[in-house]
Amino acid sequence: KDYDNNITPNWCPGCGHFSIQRALQVVASRLEIPNEKMMVVSGIGCSGRISGYMNTYSFHGIHGRSLPIAQGIKASNKDLTVIAAGGDGDGFAIGLSHTLHAIRRNMNVTYIVLNNQIYGLTKGHTSPLSEVGFQTKSTPTGSLENPIRPGIVALSNGITFLGQGFSAYQEQLIDTIVKAVQHDGFSLVNVFSPCVTYNKINTYQWFREHLVKLDEDEGYNPQDYQMAMNKLIETDGLCTGIIYQNEGTPSLLEQLQPKDASALSKMDLQLSKDHFNSIINQYR
Ligand code: SF4
Repeated sequence: KDYDNNITPNWCPGCGHFSIQRALQVVASRLEIPNEKMMVVSGIGCSGRISGYMNTYSFHGIHGRSLPIAQGIKASNKDLTVIAAGGDGDGFAIGLSHTLHAIRRNMNVTYIVLNNQIYGLTKGHTSPLSEVGFQTKSTPTGSLENPIRPGIVALSNGITFLGQGFSAYQEQLIDTIVKAVQHDGFSLVNVFSPCVTYNKINTYQWFREHLVKLDEDEGYNPQDYQMAMNKLIETDGLCTGIIYQNEGTPSLLEQLQPKDASALSKMDLQLSKDHFNSIINQYR
């Protein structure tokens, strides 16, 4: 199946987002997800365009709100593979509360953060993931605020799948997203995706020099929570691969599923149109 809708992305040449878009298409192909059974929801930012470049269902939402939209879609159609995507500002500034609630809700949605540590669409402003001292038009003398560490935030709030990737390590990124989509619960994949136009610090070269590949560490066990937390602290979050996976926590939809068919008949979670109207009419 062809997951490319042949629309040419208008990202800057060299932008890390191209690699993530391609990875998503390869993931869909490897998992043989029918085009009509996949939904990509995005927020606002350069990253938000990714939903428009997939030959699947897509929804370009509003800033910081890709996750509530994605979870609503998944709740109403459990057969869809639902991917939410957004930038670091989308997920860790205006959308941070949605990220935290999605983590604790543990619904089967994969959230891909296209993390370039800057606001590219607004022409280079500091993001909540920019490092202290990072100079942009909004912080000409350098950022004074400590950056959020997305991996530690996710892990300390009970995430059941945490992966990280780098645009230049595409095979590892594809493998990580495949595992994230297959995970039974909420999965977050934080991808270091260089903004070649506005971030002249966190470049491809910078990441190559700083990132640690966890799949090359034979002693690393992503099911060990303490090991995952230690690795995030030790590397200052600069590691890629599957950082943590807990397969023992049931997803929200699984918990809502009745245990057998007879229970199913008593517990229809779908709001029919008539039922919906009857509720609305009570308040008229
Ligand atoms: Fe990519 Fe940066 Fe260009 Fe946006 S401004 S398309 S993030 S390189």
